[in-house]
Amino acid sequence: MIRQFELVEKVKSYDPGAAEDVLNRAYVFAMKAHGLQLRASGDPYFSHPLEVAGILTEYKLDSASIITALLHDTIEDTPATLNEIRSHFGTEVARLVDGVTKLTRIEFQSDHAKQAENFRKLLLAMSEDIRVLLVKLADRLHNMRTLHHLNDPEKQRVIAMETMDIYSPLAERMGMQAMKNELDDLAFSEINGDARDSIRARLEFLRDQGGDLAGRVIGELQTTLTEAGIEATLSGREKTPYSIWRKMQHKSVTFEQLSDIMAFRVVVDTIEDCYRTLGVIHGAYRMVPSRFKDYISMPKPNGYRSLHTGVIGPERHRIEVQIRTHDMHEIADIGVAAHWQYKQGIAKTDGRQYRWLRELLDILEQTSGPEEFLEHTKLEMFQDQVFCFTPKGDLINLPHGATSVDFAYAVHSEIGDSCVGAKINGRIMPLRTRLNNGDQVEVITSKAQTPSPTWERFVVTGKARARIRRFIRAKEREQYLELGHAIIERAFSEEGYSKSNKALKGVLKHFHMASADDLAVEVGAGHLTGRDVVEAVYPALKKKRQTGKVVPLARARAKRAGKGAPVPIKGLIPGMALHFAGCCHPLPGDRIVGIVTTGRGVTIHTIDCETLAQYADMPDRWLDVSWEVSAELAEISVGRIHVTCLNAPGSLGNLSTLIAKNEGNISNLKITNRSPDFFEIMLDIEVRDVRHLTDIIAALRATPVINSVERARG
Ligand code: MN
Repeated sequence: MIRQFELVEKVKSYDPGAAEDVLNRAYVFAMKAHGLQLRASGDPYFSHPLEVAGILTEYKLDSASIITALLHDTIEDTPATLNEIRSHFGTEVARLVDGVTKLTRIEFQSDHAKQAENFRKLLLAMSEDIRVLLVKLADRLHNMRTLHHLNDPEKQRVIAMETMDIYSPLAERMGMQAMKNELDDLAFSEINGDARDSIRARLEFLRDQGGDLAGRVIGELQTTLTEAGIEATLSGREKTPYSIWRKMQHKSVTFEQLSDIMAFRVVVDTIEDCYRTLGVIHGAYRMVPSRFKDYISMPKPNGYRSLHTGVIGPERHRIEVQIRTHDMHEIADIGVAAHWQYKQGIAKTDGRQYRWLRELLDILEQTSGPEEFLEHTKLEMFQDQVFCFTPKGDLINLPHGATSVDFAYAVHSEIGDSCVGAKINGRIMPLRTRLNNGDQVEVITSKAQTPSPTWERFVVTGKARARIRRFIRAKEREQYLELGHAIIERAFSEEGYSKSNKALKGVLKHFHMASADDLAVEVGAGHLTGRDVVEAVYPALKKKRQTGKVVPLARARAKRAGKGAPVPIKGLIPGMALHFAGCCHPLPGDRIVGIVTTGRGVTIHTIDCETLAQYADMPDRWLDVSWEVSAELAEISVGRIHVTCLNAPGSLGNLSTLIAKNEGNISNLKITNRSPDFFEIMLDIEVRDVRHLTDIIAALRATPVINSVERARG
């Protein structure tokens, strides 16, 4: 276990200005917080954050990152809180620790390899600061190094798979080759230890067989370069067992000789030297076609730069040679972490690191400008997306602002159609709630449920919107159809005829309709009146109407109220073919009348609503309707009342208590006028029916502080 002063010395060795006292305080804080906790290895738990901090010093990260590493498990595993960390170590460290904690919380939620790409994006989206990801990678590396201590083979396997599917590719994308190699090797030995052992045995055999082949190759290359006047450092490096394994899996190759598994590296001072070295090597040895790659003029997306070539080298062995500068060499190993060294003025730079970072971010699908990233070192690339989990751990990728309804439709259309509620992270939340990264969403469905038109106001995905619209259109047609037939039937009976399909079929051509149902839909939607249809069947009636008189309002009402079979209306869905008027808020039990509105179907008013006056001379648009007694009517309706009460302490409280006592629920309240003496208030109250509302009104009227109560009427 690294000791306190060793850690501080390491940091100070590359960052002399680091605040020693803060590092010391973080060390003590974490040690105290973890107390007597133990790791599976039997070591004190605190050894883990300490080792993670140690790993990050190898990357020469700034002290905020080192402190974050020390504290990274305190929120999740100890009584320490984010507020404490903020007050002790400031907002920057608190933000970083919070970020790492969030990443820790979503680990192991998804064990599906097919989800790996989404999961990597989720990690990136949640890591607002690249240092969060660096700490997380170091955390994972140390956990992998100590994985063999875990006593749970299944868990070991899950962690190893996750490392291979998610963390190692992340490390690679960030250009951290050394970290990627170690993560792969550790995971490989867990997942397929036998394959790793056999490859290692084979490597050893080849090494023995070749004698010091690598040494001889390096020696000869060194001489060739020195003769050409190039100063270079050479090394030979074995490919890792995992990379050999991958190659064998994908290309069904075998490895026969050491040169198949060795890469030789030439490190020189300048880019110019790189190309000169290449010329010398190609001049001395025969080049293997198609093995040459110039990653200096065309860097890899993760910033890797080098010249690669293959030649028939010393002793006629086919070898691979990588040529690069010292700076490129460092970046090839530690990748994005080099940015921090640059920031601290430690690394020498040829000014191209900015470009490199920019390219890295491009590949990470950054959406906002990379300049901003450089300024704030924030990862904002998946900010326009949210990633949420199903209860089984599948990741669902949604656009920013998506709700539980979007989630339900993304899982399956039928789940969307039948969703009645949703639990977000175990709590029932309104369907309109916007989802956040990492939320676990459990959709509650009911076979009786159908899409609600109100959902259209808050869904953001095209799929959800299309399904809801489709449903509304089908439902509207159904309602228009039923309504239209009822209207036509009444129009016939008013003239003493009875509606027949035969009669309707005879006039289809006249209306350019294909079927009687289509005609009924047109009537139901208000594009045609019932009278239009009757007059088409019996043209003689037309004349009669032209000489007819305007029916006075009172007579119209009386006429409507008492005549014929009214059209039954059911509990209504807002926005559908039938609407309740906003002026009078009819309630089940009220005497009502329908007004046919072009393109909108029928609007239901109470029979004494003042708005009806404007329809007095349009008898065609009046429709007798009545409440259909059904279970649906037991549903809650909203009644609107106007109340005038004393402007006195407690009078509003009094009002709401009274309504609650009478089992009403205030769904909307607006003070429309406030004078020194009185409040005028508009209230929408959820009630069972008109009787319930009447009871509430009576109760309010009996209250001393309440001056008057009236139902809204137009
Ligand atoms: Mn940890």
